[in-house]
Amino acid sequence: MYRGIAVSAGVCRGKVLVMHRARHFISQREIADQDVASEVKRFEQSLAQTRKQISEVQRKVIQNMGAKEGDIFDAHLLMLEDRVLVDEVMKLIREQKMNAEYAFHAVSERYIDALAGVDDEYLRERASDMHDLTARVLDNLLEVKDAFDLRHITEPCILVGHDLSPSVTAQLNKKFVLGFATDIGGQTSHTAILARSLDIPAVVGLQAISEELETGDYALLDGYNGTVIVNPTDQTLFEYGQLLKRKASLDEKLREITTQPAVTLDGKVITLSANIEDQNDVEAVLSHGAEGVGLFRTEFLFINRESLPTEEEQYKVYREVAAALRPHPVIIRTLDLGGDKFASHLQLAKEMNPFLGWRAIRFCLAQPELFRSQLRAILRASVEGRVKMMYPMISGLDELRQANALVEKCKAELRAEKIPFNEEMKIGAMIEIPSAALIADTLARYVKFFSIGSNDLIQYTLAADRTNEKVSHLYEPTHPAIIRLIKTTVDAAHRHGIWAGVCGEIAGDPVLAPLLIGLGIDELSAAPPVVPEVKYIIRRLKLNEARALAEFALNSDSPSEIYARCQELARASAPSLFEKA
Ligand code: PEP
Ligand code: MG
Repeated sequence: MYRGIAVSAGVCRGKVLVMHRARHFISQREIADQDVASEVKRFEQSLAQTRKQISEVQRKVIQNMGAKEGDIFDAHLLMLEDRVLVDEVMKLIREQKMNAEYAFHAVSERYIDALAGVDDEYLRERASDMHDLTARVLDNLLEVKDAFDLRHITEPCILVGHDLSPSVTAQLNKKFVLGFATDIGGQTSHTAILARSLDIPAVVGLQAISEELETGDYALLDGYNGTVIVNPTDQTLFEYGQLLKRKASLDEKLREITTQPAVTLDGKVITLSANIEDQNDVEAVLSHGAEGVGLFRTEFLFINRESLPTEEEQYKVYREVAAALRPHPVIIRTLDLGGDKFASHLQLAKEMNPFLGWRAIRFCLAQPELFRSQLRAILRASVEGRVKMMYPMISGLDELRQANALVEKCKAELRAEKIPFNEEMKIGAMIEIPSAALIADTLARYVKFFSIGSNDLIQYTLAADRTNEKVSHLYEPTHPAIIRLIKTTVDAAHRHGIWAGVCGEIAGDPVLAPLLIGLGIDELSAAPPVVPEVKYIIRRLKLNEARALAEFALNSDSPSEIYARCQELARASAPSLFEKA
């Protein structure tokens, strides 16, 4: 059995097809003076040819999978345009009289080594994009016909290779490629992202599997647990067969309730919404049976680009989302830049403690012009559907009042300009700083709802950076302090006749959702793929049992005991949710 990283869920079994690394034999040749110009030309042509091929792959991916997946190839195209890289190669050809493939290979290997050595996982993964690109350019220079042409596969198989490039992955045919396993790779690699979009089970980071397996071996690949079992016994196959049956029957049960409400066995209705990052996620909200959007993280409109989005551009996006989801509500969160989300073009100074620094509402209040364009865009979109708005990172009343005053100013401007907006648009505050939870009673008088950002609330309450794995053992959602802060917030909301929801990751965890409901939470907002499981458990829950769990949690001093009780109730209420792995 090989153990790696599970990056795309599902189980498959079948014959293995090993893809051997395409090898380029690159020898160094000295170019004669009179041939330098034609060598440069040959290099330029190979770049142009590669650009054409990648654009073609990108076009097909956009057509078959969507714009987001297509964007993956922007990185490849950008690398091809990299002047520094291209100039370096040109210089080697012109000045050192090196042949194009040798020069290009030398420079790109240096880039790959530099990327692979970086401390940042995302950048490290870009080394594999560069690999992909280099192989293509070399194929073109050396006129290697597709080293491994996946179009020739005519029988179902499990692909095994050292690495699978994003451009190859994007073209996999699900009919023949049951799953794939690679020696290297990680969760955030583009190959992994594409495998999930294609819904092909995949395990990466299996170290030397491509050297140890041979074409024709029989294997079982488990994309839930990250394992590959070679020559599985009948007993193993039987066990996996049972697992797949349970998973299929659970999927069927989850599909059946897509259009059903999230209501407990004894009639308590919970609003179950979804979290989105951009307009392309709308389809997933609807197909997973969420009732609108409880958190639209607008900062993704601001990052990965050269300049700020204009009011008009933002308006179009918010309007599109609101109209597509009407009559369901869409809660647009105002810009939450900072912490671990930065817009490179704003060039903000590096801070010692970015999560405690100039982020979210603090940043927006200090940049009224930037904030104004977002507030106006949201207000304008409010006539197109049930748009609501909330502020992130409210720490005290002053910030809330200042933000509300700016909204009033924008409303007055729009009235004067005779631009329509919904005068009654509901505004809420995120409760994600302990101070806000403790003064929820005061804040509740100035807003129409609360949405608890548990991801931040946990990190600030327990002083455990949410991105630092060294303190992840302290990051405990069932810490009694968190439970009490949630309870304080919900009680304050209800005393003032407003509702309170949770939009952090705990809202999407079927083990923790019952506890939140028991604490009186009215709305849960989670990533679209986990919405069906949360709905499933809600529909199998008795409110009095959830309340008893909350009562226990409020009186306990042990995070692990509280968590164990949550597990107990979740497993007793919906056993089939927990049988798949
Ligand atoms: C949160 O903090 O729980 C939250 C939902 O916001 P984000 O994860 O975007 O900080
Ligand atoms: Mg937050």
